[in-house]
Amino acid sequence: MRNETGLLAPQYRDEDAAREHIEKIRWPDGPVCPHCGLVNEATKLEPREGSKNGVREGVWNCNGCRKQFTITVGSIFEDSHIPLHKWLLAIHLMCSSKKGISAHQLMRNLDLGSYRTAWFMAHRIRWALTQEPVKGLFGGIVEMDETYIGGKLRVQQLVKPGERPKDRLEAISNKAPVVSVLQRGGSVRSYHVEKVTAKNLKPIVNEMIAEDAHLMTDTSTVLASARGKRKLSQVNHSAKEYVRYESGEKITTNTVEGYFSILKRGNIGIYHHWSKKYMGQYLREFDWRYNARKLPDMERTLIALKMTGGKRLMLKTPINEKRRDD
Ligand SMILES: [Zn+2]
Repeated sequence: MRNETGLLAPQYRDEDAAREHIEKIRWPDGPVCPHCGLVNEATKLEPREGSKNGVREGVWNCNGCRKQFTITVGSIFEDSHIPLHKWLLAIHLMCSSKKGISAHQLMRNLDLGSYRTAWFMAHRIRWALTQEPVKGLFGGIVEMDETYIGGKLRVQQLVKPGERPKDRLEAISNKAPVVSVLQRGGSVRSYHVEKVTAKNLKPIVNEMIAEDAHLMTDTSTVLASARGKRKLSQVNHSAKEYVRYESGEKITTNTVEGYFSILKRGNIGIYHHWSKKYMGQYLREFDWRYNARKLPDMERTLIALKMTGGKRLMLKTPINEKRRDD
């Protein structure tokens, strides 16, 4: 993000450099007309200052359909009054902070005028990180577990030594149940469900996990009954069993539990509160970062940037700008 002299890279401080950077990443083969799809057949218009119908910087004219466009059309940046270089910084910060970045911190770091602006920006970026449906099902060893996020009750006060939060109903009643499916050594996909029941989990299992996968869960969960014909091994956490070996196979749910701990540290340490309404958005952000964990920060940011297109129209559905929670 910074060069040898400690200066921020140009795209993070200069508006023209930011736009050209996004163009280069999103249009590797030349400008793409969002109206007709023509590639590399557009002319860049010279900005005219002072004229009433003055052309802004970064406007292209399609040689095919004759319509004008910019790199922000159809992207999460469309209609935003926030300068592009601040968007790029925000994306970089979100992609490189393991536990995420709060709207308050974003507001301070980017010198944004209001919390609301920062909040909206963060949610647009989360929306950009929406993942494509998984190509092919999760196979091999698949760990699956549930956890409970948020809520005001302090679990520690309710749970007796030796018990786990999910064994105590009153400790979780105001929390959001989250189920994660994780292919060992691979990706994770998390779901906010109303209630952890076999009925709610079955569609997730069928959508995500191959029939010949080896499923690993712990014993106190209903996940087992949603597995269909899939092979299942369980570890008994309440008997303090976390790992065991069976014919050379490591039976554990430690990987998915490790993922939950990142999620919880983010929820508690950074964001403080996620409403159930936006749970899906936060899960998307954390899943995405985890799934790109092996990449250097810079590369992760570039991939996120590629995902900023084609997202504008769908934004209206999940985001209510008026809500303020982080
Ligand atoms: Zn066109």
